[in-house]
Amino acid sequence: MFLRIGINKVAIEINSQCVNRVFVAKTVSAPALAARPRLAYGRWMSGFPASPMMARALAEARAAAARGEVPVGAVIAAADGTLLAASGNRTRELTDPTAHAEMLAIRAACAALGSERLLGAVLHVTLEPCAMCAAAMAAARVARVVYGAADPKSGGVMHGARVFDHPQAHHVPEIIGGIGESESAALLKAFFAERRR
Ligand SMILES: [Zn+2]
Repeated sequence: MFLRIGINKVAIEINSQCVNRVFVAKTVSAPALAARPRLAYGRWMSGFPASPMMARALAEARAAAARGEVPVGAVIAAADGTLLAASGNRTRELTDPTAHAEMLAIRAACAALGSERLLGAVLHVTLEPCAMCAAAMAAARVARVVYGAADPKSGGVMHGARVFDHPQAHHVPEIIGGIGESESAALLKAFFAERRR
């Protein structure tokens, strides 16, 4: 009898929480929602040397620069650390605006696993992902995203669309930025300085 009362009590509490949530959702005005502080996510760890995975991604970025592509590289490892894919930008070579390093790496990793999901996978990329790539990472259920330099111009994680920072993001990876930042930024700076000559 006591147990049943306890269970009933818990059920009532859960119900009242649900009712409260619905009530709150209905009473928050649009201006109040807009003024809500942004969801806190992601860590910025600038000043650290590139990890072995980021070093591999930087090598892909250098190879991309040698091909005349914007130097961005991406590497995906499975949950057990197995390398699944390593890619650099190939938008010019493939005449494909979606051929960003991350997109190519996600496609290759999914093909390697025979799955549209990369559960537990860790993606390293030398530059803050754009909105398109961030959305693809969410769709692939990537567990962790580590990126190098911030990209205030085209980034979609900490800048611009901030893809993971709204309720429509169904999956939010753990995000760490700033790893290998200086190497990545130096590559991009040198590439664009050369192109301006
Ligand atoms: Zn992208």
